[in-house]
Amino acid sequence: MPILVMKFGGTSVATLDRIRRAAKRVGREVANGYDVIVIVSAMAGETNKLVGLVEETSQFFDAREYDAVVSSGENVTAGLMALTMQEMDVPARSWQGWQVPLRTTDAHAAARIEEIPPENIMTKFAEGMRVAVVAGFQGIGPDGRITTLGRGGSDTTAVAFAAAFGAERCDIYTDVDGVYTTDPRISDKARKLDRIAFEEMLELASLGARVLQTRSVELAMRYKVRLRVLSSFGEFDDNAGTLVCAEEDIVESNVVAGVAYSRDEAKMTLISVADRPGIAAAIFGPLAEAGVNVDMIVQNISEEGRTDMTFSCPTDQVARAEKAMEHAKATGDINFHDLVADTDVAKISIVGIGMRSHAGVAAKMFATLRDENINIKVITTSEIKVSVLVDRKYLELAIQSLHDAFELEKTA
Ligand code: ASP
Ligand code: MG
Repeated sequence: MPILVMKFGGTSVATLDRIRRAAKRVGREVANGYDVIVIVSAMAGETNKLVGLVEETSQFFDAREYDAVVSSGENVTAGLMALTMQEMDVPARSWQGWQVPLRTTDAHAAARIEEIPPENIMTKFAEGMRVAVVAGFQGIGPDGRITTLGRGGSDTTAVAFAAAFGAERCDIYTDVDGVYTTDPRISDKARKLDRIAFEEMLELASLGARVLQTRSVELAMRYKVRLRVLSSFGEFDDNAGTLVCAEEDIVESNVVAGVAYSRDEAKMTLISVADRPGIAAAIFGPLAEAGVNVDMIVQNISEEGRTDMTFSCPTDQVARAEKAMEHAKATGDINFHDLVADTDVAKISIVGIGMRSHAGVAAKMFATLRDENINIKVITTSEIKVSVLVDRKYLELAIQSLHDAFELEKTA
């Protein structure tokens, strides 16, 4: 029988009543002739609670025990979902990650999936089981200990299962009804997209559209898993949600698919560093070692052998970045006059595969911001995206005006 993967996020399994609603959706697909692999998150709020307990117990906690604790939320929902299916007379069984086994690297709290042998679950399907409920977010490491995949990791579990089992589709049930052109809380003209290309979704996910874990989109793109994002609260509708799919499966699309943002960015500038071979390595090496996620980088033209180097990183990493730079200065690896941090900036990005074949998209973005008198502090571009840093107070205005300028409320 064809296989479908259905993943239910925390809000979709937050209560027994909601688990029953989710189970009805699963039952419907079973009646449609699918064998279903259900991936569940912990009930809403549970994982945060478990993380809190760990942090309260131990300041510098052992990551293996962190994983042992925080993975447990999913075990509860997996068992409850299997029981609920059984109550509906659908043959179902729950599986924890290690029972599958979903094998991962040993990077506790941020493990990567290495392998999902399908045999165990396939044998059960062959024996008549119709629903395998799998605890998301967790696996087993090379040393036999429980691992977790990082926050939001059950999206990645779901996509990995869809790839490993050759599922027809991977449906991600969540509390929003799809992927929007921008955050509907910021622009009331935000429109739900029927389809979006993997590349676009990847950019939007990593740019702060919090619908899917970025890793899950990477995996879906690599293995060409058709992903559907939809709400578990709406009516039954086979065309609901947003399909994340290959570019070839999208007939018409706007040049710009969406406007993404990230609120908590900081811009840091090293004033007057020597412009010599190796200076970038001497700056960004220590930043990487300190765990600073550098995003945008701009090196100014130099004057008399000295230049300014600007980069952006998340606001909560500024202190770490400063420490790394002061340390590099103290050891003589780099020399600069001053380090200036601007923590009141936000990043706004326009994303769309149509940019590859359309000129003037960046120019239009800049003109739109100019018309609103918004100053651009840093610009970066890639093939399908243009990002700018602006003062955070302009975040909403910038998003709304760009959404209007590119007419994202209209379909192509
Ligand atoms: N429960 C985990 C978390 O909140 C994993 C997930 O829901 O995807 O991060
Ligand atoms: Mg999630």
